[in-house]
Amino acid sequence: GLVNLDLTGSIPRRKTRAVRVGDVYIGGGNPVVVQSMINEDTLDIEGCVASIRRLHEAGCEVVRLTVPSMAHAHAVGFIKQRLRETYRDVPLVADVHHNGMNIALEVAKHVDKVRINPGLYVFEKPDPNRTEYSRADFEAAAQKLKETLKPLILSLREQDKAMRIGVNHGSLSERMLFTYGDTPEGMVESALECIRVCRELDFHNLVISMKASKVPVMMAAYRLLAKRLDQESMDYPIHLGVTEAGDGEYGRIKSSIGIGGLLAEGIGDTIRVSLTEDPVKEIPVCYGILQALGLRRTMVEYVACPSCGRTLFNIEEVLHKVRDATKHMPGLSIAVMGCIVNGPGEMADADYGYVGKTPGKISLYRGREEIRTVPENQGVAELIKLMKEDGVWV
Ligand code: SF4
Repeated sequence: GLVNLDLTGSIPRRKTRAVRVGDVYIGGGNPVVVQSMINEDTLDIEGCVASIRRLHEAGCEVVRLTVPSMAHAHAVGFIKQRLRETYRDVPLVADVHHNGMNIALEVAKHVDKVRINPGLYVFEKPDPNRTEYSRADFEAAAQKLKETLKPLILSLREQDKAMRIGVNHGSLSERMLFTYGDTPEGMVESALECIRVCRELDFHNLVISMKASKVPVMMAAYRLLAKRLDQESMDYPIHLGVTEAGDGEYGRIKSSIGIGGLLAEGIGDTIRVSLTEDPVKEIPVCYGILQALGLRRTMVEYVACPSCGRTLFNIEEVLHKVRDATKHMPGLSIAVMGCIVNGPGEMADADYGYVGKTPGKISLYRGREEIRTVPENQGVAELIKLMKEDGVWV
């Protein structure tokens, strides 16, 4: 966890095995994978192909779609084929529902990963006279789950494809709800029961998720999951998400806290930010979370002071100009600081600095070294010139 954070700011991550999803690997020390889901009807093959492509081009590495019927499962086959022919073999995940293993088996032929919700597979009718679910009841339910899922698990094992066990706070089985209440424990037990079934069938291409719409519940469930998996020496990677996060600024804040908070503790191998917006808009949020934690550097890191009475130029305007000029060079870190009083000391090891020196003059830094002072109106041009001289400009 965070207490072990070293001075470079790198986060020690929970050790997991790598699970392959098409040509992408989740876990095993690989970069945290960004996922999303299209919202077209899966029967609209051309619409789905276009949406998947748009998402993938925006940086979404694994795309999910929903498969509620056999017709949808067949459509996924055509979608995959069209993608291969017209674009590329984008890793796909199918959400299957509890209405028939045949649908799951059909779609497993076409996608790289199948997502199931274990809460939906063993139906238990609420019984007002019941006082407990006994050990025998649990064993019988696990047996039933195994019988139901076995064909799918064996098919995925045979094809070396993956499965996500996706528990949702809102859809725990009656038995779990009765025994554990509507709690993180119930969510984790539900996942563990399904994981054990997979292990009995020697299937380990598993990714586990514990989604909830309340951030503290989601965080508690994932922490408990990671703890229990580690206790039982099960190194399956974890998929993080806050469901029903909503939209706009608050949806982004909720996702960033839930997903980012867990990533900061070393938990999580793939993420999805769920927004009630065009899914393409989820992707920059994912990359922003990963960038802020230093887990992936897909953008230029800008360090800028908030400005104050000492600020010697219009920092907002300058930051925009600097960003417009340099944003195509991911991996670099550039600081824009209002004054030399605190600026240079607080540039957080940026590669380059643009710092207000005296009214109308700014200083350019390379790392901690002041390189030259130039008139403010030539600042951005001089910064670019310096980068060109250094050979970092591309
Ligand atoms: Fe103010 Fe200077 Fe700090 Fe910016 S760097 S907030 S201008 S003191």
